[in-house]
Amino acid sequence: MKPLPILAAVVCAFFLLSSFATPQATKPPDRQVAVTIDDLPAGMADRLPAADVTAMTTKLLTTLRDQKVPVVGFVNEKKLYKAGEVDERIKALDMWLDYGFELGNHTFSHASLNQVGLRAWEDDVIQGESVTKLLLAQHKMKLRYFRHPYLDTGRDLETRREAEAFLVERGYRIAPITLDGWDWMFAGVYEDAKKRNDTALQQQIVKEYLAYHDAVFAYCEQLSARIVGYEPKQILLLHASSLEADHIGELLDVLRKRGYSFITLHDALSDSAYSLPDTYVGEEGTGWIEHWAISQGRIPQGEPIFPQWVIDRAKQLHLSTGTVPPPTPDGPPTPQ
Ligand SMILES: [Zn+2]
Repeated sequence: MKPLPILAAVVCAFFLLSSFATPQATKPPDRQVAVTIDDLPAGMADRLPAADVTAMTTKLLTTLRDQKVPVVGFVNEKKLYKAGEVDERIKALDMWLDYGFELGNHTFSHASLNQVGLRAWEDDVIQGESVTKLLLAQHKMKLRYFRHPYLDTGRDLETRREAEAFLVERGYRIAPITLDGWDWMFAGVYEDAKKRNDTALQQQIVKEYLAYHDAVFAYCEQLSARIVGYEPKQILLLHASSLEADHIGELLDVLRKRGYSFITLHDALSDSAYSLPDTYVGEEGTGWIEHWAISQGRIPQGEPIFPQWVIDRAKQLHLSTGTVPPPTPDGPPTPQ
């Protein structure tokens, strides 16, 4: 036999095999994520009647329970205190435990460590414990997780470390986040569209919210690989809202398509990535992959651009009250 046809046959066989192998190769890797939901009982609790908070909570928790997604919800107890509605609001909070989920502390009034000073912030942490602790005790559980409002962990390292020592002393494990698609920004605009029965706008927001989250997930996966060396067990930040109550199922599908399965926060925190050196300090709170990157002296780049029309719409609606800080004129608003 001449060598040339043999070579050709080998090359053909190679391409034939690799074409068979393609579906296998494009299958996403096995990924894991813990879902966390902030600003309970609802991000916009100040604007919503208790009945709406209850309906929203029921819908959200039903989807999460049906799909067997473990969740820790982080509470701002200040949102429970509305005249004549306290009992119903506490009941809505208690539903999280009845449905089998866990609650953590997100401070009483959603105070930023970077704004109010360490002592006042510590008081806000303590004040944020009373009802949640009681409800947990009724379910034979303990308050063990804390999430920083606005992800603000301190403007200088001394404050950051003092706050961390305070939290550890009170029995908390800090709940970091690694995936954040600013759902709260979409949620405010969605809530308004829903109130006005503008279904076209609601659909547009949902489409954008899903696409942006998908882009953020892809970006964070790549950044993880570069900074951590692998993709750690991720922790997703979402917020209690009508948007999530109505559409979290579609977001969970986006995650499943990327190869994610859903794990507990406890499991996620067992990943050694969460003990990486972290000396991040700054005016702006941010996710932990960015913390690790900046601690290594590397500046994360190429993150997806948040859709400007959603920011503009939120500004028009003056959606800066409650839990959302005012959007800055020169850039995107601060995530929570
Ligand atoms: Zn928050």
